[in-house]
Amino acid sequence: MTGTGTSSVGRSAELFARAEQVVPGGVNSPVRAFRSVGGTPRFMVAGSGPWLTDADGHRYVDLVSSWGPMILGHAHPAVVEAVREAASAGLSFGTPTGGEVDLAEELVRRVEPVEQVRLVNSGTEATMSAVRLARGFTGRSVVVKFAGCYHGHVDALLAEAGSGVATFGLPSTPGVTGAQATDTIVLPYNDLDGVAQVFAERGQDIACVITEAAAGNMGAVAPDDGFNAGLKRLCQAHGALLIIDEVMTGFRVSSAGWYGLEGVAGDLYCFGKVMSGGLPAAAFGGRADVMAQLAPAGPVYQAGTLAGNPVAVAAGLTTLRHATPEVYTALDANADRLHGLFTDALTEAGVVHTIQRAGSLISIRFAEGVGRDYDDMRAAETWRFPPFFHALLDHGVYAPPSVFEACFISAALDDDAFSVIADALPVAARAAA
Ligand code: PLP
Repeated sequence: MTGTGTSSVGRSAELFARAEQVVPGGVNSPVRAFRSVGGTPRFMVAGSGPWLTDADGHRYVDLVSSWGPMILGHAHPAVVEAVREAASAGLSFGTPTGGEVDLAEELVRRVEPVEQVRLVNSGTEATMSAVRLARGFTGRSVVVKFAGCYHGHVDALLAEAGSGVATFGLPSTPGVTGAQATDTIVLPYNDLDGVAQVFAERGQDIACVITEAAAGNMGAVAPDDGFNAGLKRLCQAHGALLIIDEVMTGFRVSSAGWYGLEGVAGDLYCFGKVMSGGLPAAAFGGRADVMAQLAPAGPVYQAGTLAGNPVAVAAGLTTLRHATPEVYTALDANADRLHGLFTDALTEAGVVHTIQRAGSLISIRFAEGVGRDYDDMRAAETWRFPPFFHALLDHGVYAPPSVFEACFISAALDDDAFSVIADALPVAARAAA
């Protein structure tokens, strides 16, 4: 059933009221709370292919894909079977396993500059560990990041982060110490001159530059031609490391992530989401000489009780093995199709807008012209988004509940799913007008 209407979400409302008593804000990750769009978060009970079903029995076309991992769609039979098999053999051993080696080999095979990887449990752990490793390797402390880029909730990386931090309009976060903040330099995205200037002034102190391969947490913002290559050049010239965060883009925008589209080699990479298959798994990796500094081979400590968990590894490996060239063709085609539908509906309704694209990442900027940085993205008519979002939701489309998040499409979106989207969008566009 689609066309849910806000009055018929009694079970979700009941669950949310209970959740608010025992979980801060009622959710385990802020953006799920619908704070910036209002209304009752939908509590989901099942997913299949491109569809989600909520606790009140409503069905939605899913444009969130669990914030990225589900490129094959929900409950893909091969992934579910691999998880079942792995779980039957034992949930966790705390020892090395063959599956970890298979997954590491798959990551190394796909992304050429990555010679070694270490598995962790979340993207946050991956970026946190990569920054520590960069500091250990260079013996320097300063990290350069870009406003609007989100790298998880690592203390040093929360300054002017996008994602939930943008959604809630938070300043740099309480709880981060002055020392952490002092060691983080935040610069505007896509401003290579700004980076060159900081290197000229502080080059000796800079351990690393961390950047999203293409930004997806302030809406989708592609790097300008030459931006990532320029970062690489500056890092190399000053003995700093370039950390490319592909948690969002990795194995989504191409079989080798953004690297597969652009070919700029970072020193370290962070992965998560797609490579997890929907269970908690992530990784960081890169140059062998840098990775050799990690314990037990080297002095930089990093560890994890559940790192390389066999069930999570089975989900990730099976997802990647099924992410064939045909899947990437389907993802691109689905992004193009969604792009076309967004454009047609918003144009027809007379709503000023620009569709932001970074490969198959896609979002709407309610303003004219392509946004190139966080200021551009925040300067748009963001107030148009909540009515747009709710009209979609009421007509059976589950979009990301924030104007600063990109849509995560899956290869499973089919004609039935697109016809629900095509019917919902004109209503949503009128609501945004
Ligand atoms: N890096 C990027 C680019 C992300 O988009 C995210 C999460 O959305 C993270 C890191 C953090 O990943 P996790 O939520 O798994 O900690």
